[in-house]
Amino acid sequence: MPTHDLEGEVAVVTGGGRGIGSGIAHRFAEEGMHVAILDTDHLDYEYNQYGSTEIGGYDEARGVVSEIEEMGGDAMAIDCDVTEADQVHDAVETITEEWGGIDVMVNNAGIITAGYVEELDEEEWDALFDVNVKGVFLGSQAVIPHMKERGDGRIINTASIAGKMPFPGLAHYVASKYAVMGLTKTMAMELADDGVTVNAICPGILNTAMWENVLTPFFDQPFEESLEANIPQGTEQTPEEMADLAVYFATNPSVTGQAVNVDGGAQM
Ligand code: NAD
Repeated sequence: MPTHDLEGEVAVVTGGGRGIGSGIAHRFAEEGMHVAILDTDHLDYEYNQYGSTEIGGYDEARGVVSEIEEMGGDAMAIDCDVTEADQVHDAVETITEEWGGIDVMVNNAGIITAGYVEELDEEEWDALFDVNVKGVFLGSQAVIPHMKERGDGRIINTASIAGKMPFPGLAHYVASKYAVMGLTKTMAMELADDGVTVNAICPGILNTAMWENVLTPFFDQPFEESLEANIPQGTEQTPEEMADLAVYFATNPSVTGQAVNVDGGAQM
């Protein structure tokens, strides 16, 4: 049973085929929202947590839609690379035509690689900034006119505790997440008068493809040891916890410009 007043509203979740985005999509559907999941099968560079240009995200998104439909929810998957303005704008148009508007936009798609500054390729830097920063910019830009016109809307960006503190070996990722913080707070100011809130979720550590394929091998220590080293509570965070915060942001019109950690005390 939905416990909030999100029933019938429309949500978009980028990178919702897996991990945190999938958790948020499921939770929104449980709240009775229509959920559009934007993900992509193909990226231009293999600099990402899958180590390939063929990342299968749209395929995964269709799987999430099936799961949501099986539990009686309403969802659609759209093949959309968040770094491509045309694809993002087309997706927003499709969703608006189908469901009449967009209430909540979650800019969640993100990628990671690891390496010290002197080792990073220029293309690697560009790849992370394209998805992690430009993706948030394009996703927001596509919904803002529509939200302003309605005088209502919620933009929720998945940043990171890496948007608030340094992590050696991740300068490009850290810089991209600091950029998401700046974008979040500035958009919150720009839209404060328009009934549109903009906030960020800052996850701690979740054992998604990011940790499994990139960070655990890079730090060369078992995942459990990384938790002990970085998380005072010593435990992993979950997509469900990120979804709780997404629901909070979606249902609280006076909360804006905030970047809230869900991180077991990693960054205080
Ligand atoms: P994930 O790899 O499980 O999921 C990321 C999803 O984004 C995938 O489905 C992928 O296909 C999709 N994606 C990637 N590039 C895309 C693009 N250009 N267009 C559309 N979709 C694209 O990763 P995750 O851990 O769930 O990460 C989600 C977000 O959470 C990211 O922004 C990440 O930086 C952030 N985050 C993750 C952690 C963690 O510990 N896992 C911690 C802090 C922040």
